[in-house]
Amino acid sequence: MPGYEIIDNKEKKAVSKIFDEGAVLFAHGFPNIRKKYYVRELEQKFSSLMKCKYALPVASGTAAIKIALKAIGIKPGDEVITQAFNFVATVEAIIDCGAKPIIVGVDNSLNICPLDLITKITKKTKAIIPVNMLGASCNFKEIKKIAIKHKIRIIEDNCEAFMGKYEKRYLGTICDIGILSLDYGKFITSGEGGVILTNNKKYYKFCKQYHDHGHENSPKYSRGNDNRKIVGFNYRMTELQATICIEQLKKAKLILKKNKERYKLLDKKINKNINKRLIIENSEPNYDTFIFYVKKSLKLKIIKYLKKIKLGTKNLPDAIKWHCSYYWGHAVDKKQIRNSVRTKNLLTSAIAIPILINKNLKFYNSVVLEINKIYEKYR
Ligand SMILES: *Cc1c(COP(=O)(O)O)cnc(C)c1O
Repeated sequence: MPGYEIIDNKEKKAVSKIFDEGAVLFAHGFPNIRKKYYVRELEQKFSSLMKCKYALPVASGTAAIKIALKAIGIKPGDEVITQAFNFVATVEAIIDCGAKPIIVGVDNSLNICPLDLITKITKKTKAIIPVNMLGASCNFKEIKKIAIKHKIRIIEDNCEAFMGKYEKRYLGTICDIGILSLDYGKFITSGEGGVILTNNKKYYKFCKQYHDHGHENSPKYSRGNDNRKIVGFNYRMTELQATICIEQLKKAKLILKKNKERYKLLDKKINKNINKRLIIENSEPNYDTFIFYVKKSLKLKIIKYLKKIKLGTKNLPDAIKWHCSYYWGHAVDKKQIRNSVRTKNLLTSAIAIPILINKNLKFYNSVVLEINKIYEKYR
């Protein structure tokens, strides 16, 4: 699963190298005392790997969502739709722009339900944020149809499904703007950090200026003499984060391969009568979580076992209150809480097994055999 499992000497050496090269920890300027610009290098690396025209590293995934909302022109009074199984960051970014979060339920894929989505669109709807939760793609065919019909922009929150695919393209590059997170629990990490992906030059230019106090970064002027047209903020990434992330990126394909071996083993061996999470047609997950649904009495038994072997669960159910809008009365109105009830009930029957690459296939084999045993005994 996450890149933190395999942080080693490579990341350590990369950080050390920055200190040897003049210790410029800032992504801009200081041309006389630095050798390289690592955030700029990271930008290139993401755009070439993801096959996406523009990639902009920023301070966090949450900041990236907010910047993207600003780029598509979200204003106070607008409505932005997102899903009930989610992370609180999307709702925070919407609220930070002065807009209103509207919650849509999820289906058995655990991502936004297109049928429910249609019923939540109003004249005020300006954007949809579908979230590829726990490694797997949303139903983009249906979501895009709806968005095109109503002339609504889509920001794809791909913080949790980096390296997953939809119709052979990388998740995060499917919609108007895509978002990645590099926080410590994610597929690859730089401690904190986020990336904005887009093929739209106008959006990219806005994001680049907005996240850096409005700096146009014109090559004609020094940074001190640079021009500005928009009021921005500081959501910049540092060189330290970028250099760590460059090393982590080199490990992304290895992580994917190891995830896949473990996930496929669980997928193949789990009892055929157990309901698994629906994976959307023509999509490929990043395989970092394996999810299935069981009734409550069985669920408690399986969770007890997962705790005992110190594997635990991934968010479902251990951190459900941060991942389901049913629990976010501090941020959304009563109607959105009601819109979240069906999703909460579905999530209550789900168990998410974390795929860790430092645990081997033999370990996961014993896990799935034991789950099957518990299932046979208590179903
Ligand atoms: C982690 C995460 C975020 C926020 O990313 P940060 O880098 O932690 O700010 C947003 N959305 C989802 C779905 C996430 O999992």
